[in-house]
Amino acid sequence: MTTLTIVNPSDETVISEIEAFDVEQTDAAIERAVTAQKLWAAWTPADRAAALRRFAAAVEADVENLALLEVRNSGHPIGNARGEAAHVAQVLQYYSAAPERLIGKQIPVAGGLDVTFLEPIGVVGVITPWNFPMTIASWGFAPALAAGNAVVLKPAEWTPLTSLRLAELGLQSGLPEGLFQVLPGEGRVAGDRLVTHPEVRKIVFTGSTLTGRSIMAKAAAQVKHVTLELGGKSANIVFADSDLEKAAATAPYAVFDNSGQDCCARTRLLVERSAYDRFMELLEPAVKRFVVGDPADSATEMGPLVSKPHFDKVASYVPDDTDVAFRGSAPSGPGFWFPPTVLTPRSETDRTVVDEIFGPVVAVLPFDDEADAIRLANSSAYGLSGSIWTQSLDRALRVSRAVEAGTLSVNSHSSVRYTAPFGGVKQSGLGRELGPDAPLSFTETKNVFIAIGAQ
Ligand code: NAD
Repeated sequence: MTTLTIVNPSDETVISEIEAFDVEQTDAAIERAVTAQKLWAAWTPADRAAALRRFAAAVEADVENLALLEVRNSGHPIGNARGEAAHVAQVLQYYSAAPERLIGKQIPVAGGLDVTFLEPIGVVGVITPWNFPMTIASWGFAPALAAGNAVVLKPAEWTPLTSLRLAELGLQSGLPEGLFQVLPGEGRVAGDRLVTHPEVRKIVFTGSTLTGRSIMAKAAAQVKHVTLELGGKSANIVFADSDLEKAAATAPYAVFDNSGQDCCARTRLLVERSAYDRFMELLEPAVKRFVVGDPADSATEMGPLVSKPHFDKVASYVPDDTDVAFRGSAPSGPGFWFPPTVLTPRSETDRTVVDEIFGPVVAVLPFDDEADAIRLANSSAYGLSGSIWTQSLDRALRVSRAVEAGTLSVNSHSSVRYTAPFGGVKQSGLGRELGPDAPLSFTETKNVFIAIGAQ
C-alpha cells in the first residue's frame, strides 16, 4: 500500500498519512461514478439545482474549518484561505442556476422540428495541482455537476485535505453516493488511470505544462475531451504614463501572493525605461513591507512554499551570484520559507525570465516603447495572464488586444472572477473555465430532427 505523507509547510511536522488509491480502487470509484451519473441525470433540473444550493450552503457553513485545513496543509495565510473557501461556496451557488438554464435550440428546418439537447458527457475526471487546492477543484466539479455529470477528482499528492472535506460536504448535502468522489493518489497511478479509463469521458487538468502535454496525448487515444489549465510567466507592463505609485505598491501582490505559487503571478515586471529608476525606488519599500510569516496570523500576507522539493526548485533559480536588486524578509527555522525576491536579469533570455519558477521571485526588465513592451510580453511560450498600467485608454485597449494571453487586467491585477471566463493561450492551456459558459463545456450537443407528417 502506498501512502501520502501530508506535511505542514510552516513547521515541517507530519499532519497525517493518507492511503493512496491504486488502479483497482480508482477503477471501482469510476464504476460507482458511472452508476451515480445515470441517477443524477434522471433527477429533475430543479432538484439538481436545489442539491447544488444545499452543497453551497454546507461549504459556506464550513468556511472556517476548510480555511484552517488549508493553512495547515498548504501554508496559505488564513485571510487568503478564508477567501478561497468562500469562493468555493460562491462557485457552487453560481452554477446551481445552470441545471434549469441549460437550454438547447429549436432550429428552423423544412418538413419537421429540429431541436438540440445539451446532454451530460458522463463521468468527468478532474486532476488538480497543489497551489490552490479547493478553488481550482471547484472550477471543475461545480459546472460539471451542474451539467449532469459525475466527477472523480484527484487532488495533488501534497494537498488533498480540503478536497476530501468537500467530498464529505457534498455527500452530506444529499448528492447521490458516488456522484462526487475525491481520490487521494499519485498522478502516475490514480491520475493516469482517470486519463486512460474509457468510462471517463472528459479530463479537466490543471498543473504543469509538461504533465498537461502528456495527458493530452493520452486522451487523444480515446478522443477524450480535455480542458488544460497550465503554466504561466505573465507580464506586468508598467508604462511611464501610469499611476506609478499605485503600480509599484500593488506589484508585489501580483507576484508574491500565495508565495508566488500562482499560475497567474506576474513574474515578469516590464517597466518603461524612462520611468524605470523612479519605479524601482517605489518598489523597494513595497517589497520590504510585505508581511511574511505565520500563516495562522491574520496580518500575514505570505506564508511558506508548499514543500521541501519545491523550495529546492525555487532556490535553484537564485544562486549566490544572481543579480538580486532587493529582497523582503522571511522567518528562519523550520518551514519552507523563501523571501520575496526582486531580480534584474541582464538578458531577456535568462532562465529567470523564461522559466516558470512558481515561487516569490520576480524579474524586472526595462522596455523602450509600446511596440517593445508588446514584443517582450509576447516573447514567452506561455500566455495565461497579465496586467497593463497606463492612464491612456487608447494604449490600454491597443496593448490588451496585442498581448497574447487569455486573462488580462488594466490598472489592476485581477485574474479570477467566477462570473468571467478564465484560461490561457499558447502553452498555458486549452479551453476556458468559469463564467456563464463553463457548463456548456461539460455537455455534448445532440441534434434531433422530428418529421411532421402532412395532414
Ligand atoms: P503537476 O503537473 O506536477 O501536477 C498536477 C496534478 O497532476 C497533480 O494532481 C498530479 O498528481 C497530477 N499528475 C502528475 N502526473 C500525472 C500523470 N502522468 N497523469 C495524470 N495526472 C498526473 O503540477 P503541480 O506541480 O501540482 O502544479 C503546479 C503547476 O500548475 C504550475 O505549472 C502552475 O502554473 C500550474 N497551474 C496552472 C493553473 C491554471 O489555471 N492555468 C492554476 C494553478 C496551477
